[in-house]
Amino acid sequence: MPMSIASVRQSTARGSLFEHAISRLLMRPARVTDTVTLSAKFRLIDLDSEALKDCAWSPGDKIQLEFDGGLTARSYTPIMMDRTVGRTRILAYHHGTGPGSEWVRDVALDDGCQILGPRNSLDLGGLTPPTVVFGDETSFGLAAALQRNALNPRGLHAVFEVNALSESLMVLDTMGIMASAVIERRPDQSHLADVTETILRVMDDRTTFVLSGRSPSIRHIARALKERDVTARRLKMKAYWTPEKAGLD
Ligand SMILES: Cc1cc2nc3c(=O)[nH]c(=O)nc-3n(C[C@H](O)[C@H](O)[C@H](O)COP(=O)(O)OP(=O)(O)OC[C@H]3O[C@@H](n4cnc5c(N)ncnc54)[C@H](O)[C@@H]3O)c2cc1C
Repeated sequence: MPMSIASVRQSTARGSLFEHAISRLLMRPARVTDTVTLSAKFRLIDLDSEALKDCAWSPGDKIQLEFDGGLTARSYTPIMMDRTVGRTRILAYHHGTGPGSEWVRDVALDDGCQILGPRNSLDLGGLTPPTVVFGDETSFGLAAALQRNALNPRGLHAVFEVNALSESLMVLDTMGIMASAVIERRPDQSHLADVTETILRVMDDRTTFVLSGRSPSIRHIARALKERDVTARRLKMKAYWTPEKAGLD
């Protein structure tokens, strides 16, 4: 069975030469063909690559940006894929420090980079409305991809927790991402009660849930849904980041 790049990366330091070699084999060169600075912390970035021509892609898939010659990777969610040109677009949030944030903040037109994917991350095949999509700034791209490709966008309810309300509302509006609720984080996490209450209000007994973004928030909401007898089959979850841990994938 072929070894996945993730399992290769999880190998011990002794495997680093091997890891490096595998990463290099799978990496594909890409070029930045457009950037739009949407706000202080959000950028829309177009990447062109021969590797994106005729590739398979569905909403929920990820691409990985490779740094340090393939030793470090950060994941982003394509919001569209133009297979004819070989182009994808990501909606990226630079939260602070880290190779991903720094690249998103500083990248310029015509810069080269290395990518892996697109590859499966959240398997959303067969998702039928109504659906609740929960996430944060890192999930705006996922919501955009789902809304653009939804058979019935009205059956999609996006609920977000965010750091800066006005910035997020402005970005969502510019991107045409419809949100049922955008709730500002509070340091004591008490806002998660409001998030849960909103989700319980918009859901019914057919709703499926796509939970992404910050890992502890996903766990909190999943627990609340399970207490209301939402079965695992109706829950699709993927942590995009977790506090104090770099490069979650
Ligand atoms: C499948 C998948 C798809 C993703 N899609 C997108 C996307 O489309 N757009 C997007 O912007 N992001 C997306 N992310 C999230 C992004 O990959 C992470 O936020 C990543 O950690 C950023 O890398 P970094 O190098 O800036 O920070 P890292 O080096 O990974 O982390 C440094 C520190 O920052 C913290 N941190 C990481 N992310 C955040 C955050 N958002 N807010 C606050 N602190 C944070 C970490 O806990 C760590 O302490 C996705 C992640 C996954 C796994």
